[in-house]
Amino acid sequence: MEIHINHTTISLKRGDITKEDADAIVNAANSRLAGGGGVDGAIHKAGGPEIMDECNKIGKCEPGNAVITTGGMLKARYVIHAVGPVYKDGNHNEENILSAAYESCLRLAVSRGIETIAFPSISTGAYGYPTEAASIVALKTVLNHLKNNGHGLKLIRFVLFSDVDLEIYRHSLNKLVASQN
Ligand code: ADP
Repeated sequence: MEIHINHTTISLKRGDITKEDADAIVNAANSRLAGGGGVDGAIHKAGGPEIMDECNKIGKCEPGNAVITTGGMLKARYVIHAVGPVYKDGNHNEENILSAAYESCLRLAVSRGIETIAFPSISTGAYGYPTEAASIVALKTVLNHLKNNGHGLKLIRFVLFSDVDLEIYRHSLNKLVASQN
């Protein structure tokens, strides 16, 4: 699924984000930038040790924030490491932190002249954020960013790891677009 907002395309697809041919792919990292399982492990494995070397130099990243490194051996030139919230019950600022993580990535991308960026579904794996709620936050943040900034990014793609997740994001995007019209 794909929609166009001004000069930017938002697209949703199922796939493995490590294979994406974008200027930058986003990693769902942890605060210590220490690598781990899920998409984080897959990115470091596919991208090689150069990415971890840069993460070690940067040291850490607070939840809601993002940092940028090389893409190493990946097709993507950069990896943007974003730290989402660990989901407790929805009353611990999870929504704001998740939104801030996406917004940090978008700002960082624009400041580096990145035109195409691929996101995974941050926080919905090991960090336990319910996917439907997370998809609304992710997509709303992207739509608001484009409304308020407009220029720079040509393609923002969400790469979902399962058909179920893709369907959830598709449903949420339809709902948000309908509510804006
Ligand atoms: P978090 O700790 O932020 O929850 P996870 O990596 O555990 O991060 O999960 C985030 C999402 O990334 C989950 O939906 C998971 O299925 C998905 N995921 C795992 N590996 C990949 C991959 N190679 N490409 C895209 N998405 C992936």
